[in-house]
Order: sequence, then C-alpha cells, then structure tokens
Amino acid sequence: MTAPSSPAARTSTAAGAGRFAPSPTGDLHVGNLRTAVLAWLFARSSGRAFLLRVEDLDPERSRTEAGQLRDLAAVGLTWDAAPVRQSERTALYLAAVARLAEAGRVYECFCTRSEIADAPRAPHAPPGAYPGTCRNLTEAERARRRQDRPAALRLRAEVDHYTVNDLLHGAYTGPVDDLVLLRNDGAPPYNLAVVIDDAASGIDQVVRGGDLLTSAPRQAYLASLLGLPEVQYAHVPLVVNPEGRRLAKRDGAITLAAMARNGLDATAVRDLILASLNLPPGTLDEALETFAPASLPRGPWTFRAAS
Ligand code: GLU
Repeated sequence: MTAPSSPAARTSTAAGAGRFAPSPTGDLHVGNLRTAVLAWLFARSSGRAFLLRVEDLDPERSRTEAGQLRDLAAVGLTWDAAPVRQSERTALYLAAVARLAEAGRVYECFCTRSEIADAPRAPHAPPGAYPGTCRNLTEAERARRRQDRPAALRLRAEVDHYTVNDLLHGAYTGPVDDLVLLRNDGAPPYNLAVVIDDAASGIDQVVRGGDLLTSAPRQAYLASLLGLPEVQYAHVPLVVNPEGRRLAKRDGAITLAAMARNGLDATAVRDLILASLNLPPGTLDEALETFAPASLPRGPWTFRAAS
C-alpha cells in the first residue's frame, strides 16, 4: 500500500530520506503515531523523501502491518515507495555478517542468557553489556561448545563507547559492546537489520522514540565498520500516561480505533498530536509551514486517555 504523495514529497527527492519503522506487533497508539508524524515533518521539512519499513523480524508476533499502514495514512502520512519488510531481507543481513567475518570482526558465542547475567564484569561495565566470555575461546573450546548448543555470532567491537550527533540531544556518547549479529536460531537481530536497511534505502535521517537513543551509538559504530554513511538522528520525547510511564494497552483508549469509539476521529487525533507539538490544527502539509525542530517541546507529552 502506498499513500499518495503530497506536493512536498514530489519535490523532495534531492537529499536522502527519512523513515518510520514500526514493529507490526500490535496496533499503533497515539505515542507511535506522534513519533511517525514527527519523522514525517522532519523529513519533509528538510526536503527528504519519506519511507516506511515494517520491522517484522519476529514473524510469530508480526500480524498488524495492514492496520498500522492504514492508521498512518489516516493521520495524513504519505510515503514515497512501497514499505520494505525486514522478513524479506535476510540475505542482505547475512551478507553483511559475512563481510564482518571476513574482516575478523565476528566470533561465536555460546552463552545462555543466565550465563551472561551471572558472568563477572568489569566494575564500570554498562548494565546489560556482554561481558566478553566467548571472545577469546580457543578453537578446541569452540569445537567442544558447539556440541552443546548452536553458536550466536557476535561483533568483536574495538571500542566500548561511541558518539552520535542528535538534532535534539546534541553529541551523545553511549556504550557499545560485542553485540549479537546473528542469533543462535539463525535470526538476524534488530540492531543489525536497522543499520543495513537504513543504508540500503538511502535513509540518512532517523527520527524515532527517545527510548532508542541508547541504541544509536552501537548502531552508528556498526555502520562505520560496514563503511555505511552516518545518519542524522533525532530521538523525540515519548508520550507517557498520567503516572509518567510509557503508554501501554492498559492505559485505555490510545489506538485510533479505540479513540474513534470515543468520538475522536483520525483528523481530531492528528490535531491533538499537532497541538502537543505546538503546531496549529490542519493537514500535515500545512503544519510544515510552522514546523521548526528548535521549537519542539523537549519533555514527554502526558496523554490522558478518555475511558
Ligand atoms: N521498530 C522499532 C519500534 O517499533 C523502531 C526502530 C527504529 O526506529 O530504529 O520501536
């Protein structure tokens, strides 16, 4: 499904592309829709194309693609090509892992989750970072461990921090560890897929929820190892419930369908989202006239769902 392009889109092929990349594991809620609107506004206001990517690496849980695309179109998003599906791109991910392996950047890891959680770590190691248990196994040890369980593949990272530039957060330095490049069931992980897909689609601007800011350094580092261009990041504030927590299903009417049952149609939701961004009501093309990244609210938006 491709929504018709707006006039802004038709004149915007000069410089790169922005994107929205939902995981189709449930209906989009008002927080996801607000991030999507922001991604669109950032892209279009900078003359970029706008693309969608369906992050369906987990096929078991990926069932809501059509509804998500319908809801994005209903709030006024337009996109310039058929959405890309990660489930159809495994060969690309495997090719990237093969390139890294050829460069000596990959090692087999046999650790279980609990072994990783219980392993001793350096005093200042960031929480959750892989402690390096399998980094220097001998060939004999690897051969023995392969008998017990299939290996995951990990990146042999040569830095433990990396800095990215974010339009809203400035220079942000965050931890990088030996991240997984291929899970032990053969599935490619999100951190690899996102880097490959953004580059393959010519995406040079990544606007997404602020919860992913801490993932950006490892993704940018991985991109640098693969010789892929840097992207411009903008990690935008999340939408929270009145208790200050990320919106979740239990927060009531937060999807377009549920809000429609309370008398708020997609246009009203769009205007609510625009108001939360200090933008006047109207179409997204009209919002482009006043959109200025510098004047966006920097804190979370508290959303109180009607019940
Ligand atoms: N698929 C991720 C999500 O729905 C977003 C990933 C990204 O924008 O890089 O949260």
